[in-house]
Formats: sequence, C-alpha cells, structure tokens
Amino acid sequence: MTSPVLPSHGRVRPLGLAQVSLTGGFWGGRQTVNATATLAHCESWMERLGWLANFDRVADGTTGPDRPGWSFSDSEVYKLLEALSWESARSGDPEAESAIKRLTARVARAQDPDGYLNTCFGHPGRPPRYSDLEMGHELYNTGHLLQAAVARLRTAGDDDLVRVARRAADHVCRTFGPGGIDGVCGHPEIEVGLAEFGRALGEPRYVEQARLFIERRGHGRLKDIPLGRAYFQDDIPVREADVWRGHAVRALYLAAASVDVAVETGDSGLLDAVRRQWERSVARRTYVTGGMGSRHQDEGFGEDWELPPDRAYCETCAGVASIMVSWRLYLATGDVRCTDLIERTLYNVVATSPSADGRAFFYANPLHQRAAGRPADPDEVSPRAEAGVRAAWFDVSCCPTNVARTLAGLHAYLATVDDDGLQLLQYAAGEIRAELPGGRPVALDVETAYPDDGTVRVRVVAGPDEPWTLSLRVPGWADGATLTEGGRTTTVAPGLAQVRRAFAAGDEIVLELPVTPRFTWPDPRIDAVRGCVAVERGPEVLCVESADLPSRGVLDDLTIDTLTIDTGSAPRAVPGGAVVRGRARGVPDQAWSYRDRPLSGDGGDWFDVPLRPYHAWARRGPSSMRIFLPIADQPADQHPPIQEGA
Ligand SMILES: [Zn+2]
Repeated sequence: MTSPVLPSHGRVRPLGLAQVSLTGGFWGGRQTVNATATLAHCESWMERLGWLANFDRVADGTTGPDRPGWSFSDSEVYKLLEALSWESARSGDPEAESAIKRLTARVARAQDPDGYLNTCFGHPGRPPRYSDLEMGHELYNTGHLLQAAVARLRTAGDDDLVRVARRAADHVCRTFGPGGIDGVCGHPEIEVGLAEFGRALGEPRYVEQARLFIERRGHGRLKDIPLGRAYFQDDIPVREADVWRGHAVRALYLAAASVDVAVETGDSGLLDAVRRQWERSVARRTYVTGGMGSRHQDEGFGEDWELPPDRAYCETCAGVASIMVSWRLYLATGDVRCTDLIERTLYNVVATSPSADGRAFFYANPLHQRAAGRPADPDEVSPRAEAGVRAAWFDVSCCPTNVARTLAGLHAYLATVDDDGLQLLQYAAGEIRAELPGGRPVALDVETAYPDDGTVRVRVVAGPDEPWTLSLRVPGWADGATLTEGGRTTTVAPGLAQVRRAFAAGDEIVLELPVTPRFTWPDPRIDAVRGCVAVERGPEVLCVESADLPSRGVLDDLTIDTLTIDTGSAPRAVPGGAVVRGRARGVPDQAWSYRDRPLSGDGGDWFDVPLRPYHAWARRGPSSMRIFLPIADQPADQHPPIQEGA
C-alpha cells in the first residue's frame, strides 16, 4: 500500500494514497500549484546553486574545498525526490517521473562502493567521514534519502533509488551498529528514515538500528556546545523527558521516530513518553497557529508559556515535523486531538509558507511582524530565515522542499479505517475509494467549500450491506456543530461524531461546522500576549495587516472591542475574514517609555478593522501584521461615536 507512514499495527490504519483524491478546494488547489510550479522551482534552484552538481563532482572526483552549499544540501534533493514520487503516483505526470529518473541517476553515481553517500564529507579535499557528528548532518541526509526511497518503493516498486537507499542503510547499520561508532547524528532524521524504510522492506535490522540511535541519545555522546546539549536532545534520554526542548525540528523528528520504534517493538514506555511530551508541549509551548519554536538563536522551543508573538520562530519545517509526530501518535492511539492539531498546523503554518504561485516561501512564521519587510527579489537567495516576506529560495532552504513533500502526499491525512469503519479526519473536496476490513469496499464523495463554508456533505457511493460506522471529526473549536443524516439533525460534540448503520448508495450525511468568527483568549500565563485576544474562523487564525488600517502606525497602537465581531457586512471586509471594531489608543511619543502611573486616555474614533486569514498575509506585498490584538479598556458601545471634525 502507498502511504508515507504504514505502521505494522495501531489503533487505526492509514488509507493508501491511491484510495483518496482531492478534487479541488483549499487543498486541492494548493496541491496543483505544488505539482505545476513548486517542484520544478526547487529543482531549478538546486541546479543553479550547484547542489545537484555536488553529486556529479563526487562521481567525477572533482569535488573539493569550493563545494557550494551547507552540509545538509543533499537532503533537499532527497526531499524533492520524495515529493516527486508522491506526485508521480498521484497525477501520473510524466515530467515528475522523468525528474525522478534524472535526479536518481546523478545521486546514484555519487555513492561509494561501500554504500556511503554524501557530497560534503569523505572525499578528497573534504573533511573525513563522520568527523563532525554534532553539526555535519551526514546521517540526517541519509534519513531523507531513506524517506524518499520509501515513497518510491511504495509507489513504483524496487528501482534504482531504492537500491541506492538500501546500500546506504546497510552502510549505516555496519558503521553505527553494535561494535561500530557508538554515536548519534546531531540532527535526528536517520531514525525516522530507518524505521519507515525497515517497515517498507520488512527489514527489522533497520528498525533495530533506529532503536539503537534513539536509546543512545540523551547520554551526552555529542560534544557540549554553547547552545547546550538540549539543542540536539542529547541532554535527557527520550523516555525520561517530559517536554520538547531544544531545536524544534530536531526534537520533533526524534519524537516521530520514537513513536515508530515504540509501535514496531511494542515499547509502551517509549510511546507513553512521547504522549506525555506531546501533552505538555501542546499545552504550554505551542502557538495558536500550531507553530512550534519560540527562540531564534537556536530555532528552538522556549520554556513553558514563553510564546512571544513577535519573536515567534515557528519554522515551517517544525510545522511539518509536528504533523509527522501527531499523525503517528494518532495512528497508534486513535487520539483524535492529534488530528485537531494537524488541521490547525496545516491551515496556519503549512499553508502560510508558500506564495499563491508556489515560487516563494516563508521560513519563519511569526505571529506579529512589527516592521514590514523589503520586497524580495525572485532571483536572489535570501540569507535569512526571517524577513517578513516570502523568499524564492534560502541559503538554508529546508522549508520549501518540506512543504513540497507534504503537499504532494497531503491526501494521506484525510481518513483512516479501523475494524468497525472509516474515520473522516480532514475536510476537503475529494473522493475516497477504500476498503473496510475483510476487503469490503466503501466509496464516499465529499463535497465542501471548507473552510470558507462549514457545510461538509458526505455521500455514500457504495458500501457493504451490513452495518459499519462512519466517523466524522468534530474539531475542538466547533461548539454547536450538527450532523444531519436520515432526515434527523443532532448536535455533535468535539471528538468523533459516529453514525453506525448499513448505508445505501446515495445516502448523505451532512456535517455543519460553525465557521463564524470567534474570539480566542490566551492563557494568562503567556505573558507576551496578556490583555490580548486573537480571532479565529473555523480552523483558520485571522490577523490584521497594516495595509488594511487607516495608517501604518496604527498597528502598534490598536485596541479592539471584544463585544462585536462579524463576518463582513462591512464594506472593507475580506473574503474568509472578519471585521471587528478598533481604535488607536493615541499614546503620545515619550522620551522614556515608563512612568509612575498607568497611561490613561480615551483613544481615537472607532473604525472597522478587517481581519484576514493569517496564511494569506503579505500576499499583497510587505506589510506589518499581528494576530493577538490588545483589548480596549471600554467597549465600543459605551462610547458615543465621535463626530468627524468635532
Ligand atoms: Zn525549514
């Protein structure tokens, strides 16, 4: 079967990618842009920067000190190969298939006879193999090669890429197995790659090597660095940790692999450890967008409640990695809250990164941009992760290919099955042609304009004669959702709404999710946004952009009234947005920002403040932006409107 993650057992089972298709709408449109623009965009940048030629140079013996790119640039080629593999299977696009073949041929030529494959280390003029486990990313690169090979193996069978990956995995097992180097890679990823490659090939040695790497970490095998060993999770063993810390992508790739190994080896202690870490990290170290990572210096998690909106890092890759962890935990446990977090992260991190044309990306995803960025040159590499505008490519360009592989296989996350029926988890226009246990086919069509509209129509096209259970996820925010089937409408609570009966072809089940805009108050322990409120609409977090305010400076000084909110009868409303009432506090500029009593003042006139989905911010050019809005001392309706010129 075809899916990025196929555990040998679990509470629920994923569907194959061939069993689900997106037919348009929010995600179908993005998947098309990914296929028609982003994949070629990524390849052309890697060609232009010499990251692809690095493989040719190793093969030709011409690499040396002038090798371009960071030590992890090989991994971008592998992530693109993974994306192309999912895309080729999804659409049958011959260009995707020929891109796989030409990239694979260049990668394969660079592999050493013993299976070692890396363009940065281990060749004349380059540092020796495994001479910098802390920051060298050698095993990290191999992990992404294995994930690409999993995609290829499950969509096209055992081809050259799979053979290259098998030799690379064998090399890793020989070199780092019992009696070999007793070390780990400074950036987890080899673990999740080995675990899935082992599952895909039915090769327990690879899962065992992943287990060894996981057990070794946390005992100080890596050298201490100024950022501390928590940066690469070598401070505490995985099974003893209570919360995610250090570099967010590292922490989350490690957690994803830990779930895989726990499931394959029946290690309930390890699984419980990751569940415990998920609970506390989601409760105390996650932004309202689902973004993770509060600190720029180490791209890392902060302490509990350390969630500053303007210094939010929220790397796009950390969003992808968080989805990887939550999906694995959901498959193992059936805990549907994991798929709530996946939805939040998809709409507010993954969808935020790419531009509408799929050729520019956000790396960091702050919740408050104080100064508008400068327009990005589509022909220039951005040296920075944070810029306030989407960039065509980055010096460290991990995020574009991570978005590409996620969107190419996005339909993997729509639904699952268990012994009793099918669970519909994410709502997108699409078709599901699956099998319930016992080989009983079931066909469903989903019609929806979600999240613009909250109506989800599920039509049974075919199904078994005997009763089975159709479950629809009701998101945690969806207070007052209703389900209509067989002429009856009932209110359904967050979690899974279940209908169990024998369905006939043509039966329709309609879920109504309340996507009217709502205020969301943060926990008061999140100091940085105390006294502020956010606005959400369905799964989308909304924001205010300076371009929608009377003047640019107002964004710093804005307070809003939490008594009124509407979807946009106001003339300046934005589709999919909302409108609140706000005004400028009118704080005078002072020589010193502190005084012996609170500043008081009525503020200026009330005006309409249009909000738009956060994922759409900065699409009209550079702007300042904020999600959390300070609450006005007194609501709008207690103030008589101030007459113009009065
Ligand atoms: Zn990244």
